[in-house]
Parts: sequence; structure tokens; C-alpha cells
Amino acid sequence: MSDSFKPLTVAEILQECQKQGYYVRYHSRRSRTLLVADISTAPESVRNAIHQSAVQKIATSRTSNQTGKRKYTGEEPPVRHVRHKTADDVEPEEAEVIPPLLPITQTRLFMALPSTVEVEDCLRSFIKASSNTALKHVVCGACAREKPINETEFIPIADIPSRNQLVPEHPHIAHVLTDGVLLETIGVKNKDSVLHAHFCSDCMRDLKRNQLPTFALANRMWIGVVPDVLACLTIPEQLLISPLYTRCFVFKLHPKGWCDDDVSSMQRGMRGNVTSFPMNMDDIIDMVHGDKMPRPTSILPSIIAVTFIGRGRLPSAWLKSTFRVRRHAVLSALEWLAENNRYFRSYTIDHEILNSLPEDDVPIEILAATRQETDTAIIDLESASYVPTG
Ligand SMILES: [Zn+2]
Repeated sequence: MSDSFKPLTVAEILQECQKQGYYVRYHSRRSRTLLVADISTAPESVRNAIHQSAVQKIATSRTSNQTGKRKYTGEEPPVRHVRHKTADDVEPEEAEVIPPLLPITQTRLFMALPSTVEVEDCLRSFIKASSNTALKHVVCGACAREKPINETEFIPIADIPSRNQLVPEHPHIAHVLTDGVLLETIGVKNKDSVLHAHFCSDCMRDLKRNQLPTFALANRMWIGVVPDVLACLTIPEQLLISPLYTRCFVFKLHPKGWCDDDVSSMQRGMRGNVTSFPMNMDDIIDMVHGDKMPRPTSILPSIIAVTFIGRGRLPSAWLKSTFRVRRHAVLSALEWLAENNRYFRSYTIDHEILNSLPEDDVPIEILAATRQETDTAIIDLESASYVPTG
């Protein structure tokens, strides 16, 4: 927007408005742009008076430049008024040419349609904020968590503050140290032949305080590379090959979006939360006695509880991605564990139980124990009071 009052400061423009008896709304005083936009709708006489004041200021400025600066006579100490200036309050540079007064607009800024330039600026900002670059996620080198790139710092590994905190206190033969510190290798990048790493704001904050980040791999959070045969297991599959059950899991799921309507018309995506509770170990030991794997699916209702929040009938296919049990996946995991994990060497594979597992389906025991809650207000209540605990 052309500023016809360019030589005047915001304060001077407001002063002139006051002289002319023109009330400037409080909202318009917050920035020069808003102020100029407000005055563009003022009566012609007010705008002319302010414009004349701007012309007058230019003329005065030129005259004082020609006569030179006033010299200090030494009779009294100069008084300097130090004042913090805002961007809008800064004395504008002298303008050789003052833009002419624009024709009066019929509406004030409020409810005015944005100009083409403003629309393009908004679109540019939106595209920039939602671009692949802005939404990119990276892995924190210290804690291996995936974080938005704009919440991380990318620094040379040599410049990590308090880097000694990331040296593992209990070294493991499989640790891969990068320049002497334990980092997630996915988060380490080579830039200009110098090793850099991303660090999330949590880890960086702790390192700057010379503290070991809570979730750092070096804080005994390192578990090494999880083999595919174990990483692909669902929760029920993990439980069927688990020697111990220290906790039970309560799943509360609802359709993505909202669940006021019939679930059959909604997408199949589900979301929710999982709460785990400690188990009575004595009872569990009695339940899973023996040295055979996998466990029978009959134990699952004792360890997993599923509550579906929503109206309508829940299609069983919705649970499949979370609660499916694949016989071949369980067998592959057990064979890998028997070969690589000494705690599993005493177990033998019970093929009778193995063959009783679904080939690829949700065990009937889980389906039978799934409850449905039609009071959808629970979702808001639980979200509002959710407090994560250890
Ligand atoms: Zn981190």
C-alpha cells in the first residue's frame, strides 16, 4: 500500500489526526500499515492536512540540512533522551518524493477484501509452511526419536554441548560410536565432509545444561537393531511368545475423525490410547507354567482388553491391523529367538498350539472380549484428563 504520509512517524500522524478531530481506532494504532489503511478512509480534509504536514516536514528537513547542524556551545550539558523505538516508531528516512494522496476508499480495513498482493503473500506463506521441507521429520541423533525438522538443531558432532554425556557408561559390544559418542546413525549426516547430527529440542536443552537427556540412547535406552521378524509382530503376537506377563493392556479405540455417525460410513482408520496395568505375577505364573511356546490364544483376554467407542456395529476388519495374529510370523519370531536369545533356548515349539493360531486373523478370544461404549463424550473426557505415567 502506498504510504502518502511517508515522512511522518506514527506518533506524528496520530497527533495530526487529533488536531483534525479524527478518531483513529485503537486497533489501527498497532502498526503503521493499519494506521495508513485507516486514514485512507478518512475525510478528504483530514487526509489533506496530514499530507500537507508530511510535505512541510520534508521542507523543514531540507532547510535544516542546508544550514548545517546546530553546534554545541558548551554552556550546558547536552541532554540525550534515550528511548526504545519500535519498528513503526522509527523515524522514516527522508523521502525525496512523497507518494500522492490516493483516492479515498469507501470502506475501512475491517471486512475489507485483501489485495492481490496480500492474497499472494498468504498463499506463499501457506505453501511454505505446508511444504515437504517444512513438514519433514528427522531422527534425533541422541534419542533416536522422530521429530519435525523445525524442532531440531543440526550441528557438527564436534560441537555437541557436554558431549561427554553421550558417552555410554555401560559400553556394549554392539554399540556403534560416532566420534566417541553413542548416536543413532540414521540421525547422523555428512555435510561438507563434517559429521553433523540433528538434535531435538529436549535433548539439546539437557545437553546445554550439562545433563544426560532423559531419552538419550546413552541413558540405557539403546536396544540395538530390532530384527524384522520381531519388529513386524502385533501386540497379541508379541504376547503369545512372551515368557513373562508383567502388565496387562487396555485399548480404547475410536474411529478417526468423529464417531457420532454410523461407523459403517466412516473410514477404517482407528485411534485411541493404551493403558497398561501391573499384573498379579503369582496368578500369571500359574497360568503360563510350562516351557512350551507359543502361548495359547486363550490367555489373551486376561492380558488385553479392547473397548471400542462409537455407535453402530464395529466391523471386525477394523481391529485386524492392530490385533491380528499370523501363525507364520509367530513361528518365524520363535525360531529367531531360539537361535539368538539364550532365554528362549529352554523353550520348545508346541506345534499343536501353533496350528491352533489363526493363519492371519484376529483371535476369536479378543473379538469375544471386545466391549463397545456408545457414550462418545468419553473421548473428550479422557483426552482432557490424560496424564502419561511411567
Ligand atoms: Zn532427542
